[in-house]
Amino acid sequence: MHLRIGNGYDIHRLVPGRPLILGGIRLEHPDGLGLDGHSDADVLIHALMDALLGALSLGDIGQHFPPGDSRWKGSDSLDLLEKVMELVGRDGWQVVNVDTVVIAERPKLKGRIDAMRRTIAEALGIPPDRVGVKATTNEGLGPVGREEGIACHAVVLLQLS
Ligand code: MG
Repeated sequence: MHLRIGNGYDIHRLVPGRPLILGGIRLEHPDGLGLDGHSDADVLIHALMDALLGALSLGDIGQHFPPGDSRWKGSDSLDLLEKVMELVGRDGWQVVNVDTVVIAERPKLKGRIDAMRRTIAEALGIPPDRVGVKATTNEGLGPVGREEGIACHAVVLLQLS
């Protein structure tokens, strides 16, 4: 079998006094909110890492980067992604494509999507046209709709090189 598929999901709380980083890009929330978490709380990169680990049945990011471990406090999630990519490449796997969807009421992400795609593509070693980043709202429903947090889903396809 030369193909593997992986799925990832993450959600983080929106709180005052924290930066809002999505897909490796610093954004401004209209109310000055950011995502809370042990690392930089980049929910998009976290979902993506879980999808990559899931494709290879290597567990989840909680196992690889435990929130209680001070080594990962305040981490740049792109650095954690680099570590996950080392695991992906170790046995000869490479990314075919990824697709993600960010669920957030605000801020509007439209103008920043291409920057996120380029950043993620560089981290994965693939061209940006193989990185999907989509944004949707939750139509005001549930915790994401009440702007208590931002969630993200990701899928990845890997092939043996
Ligand atoms: Mg997370």
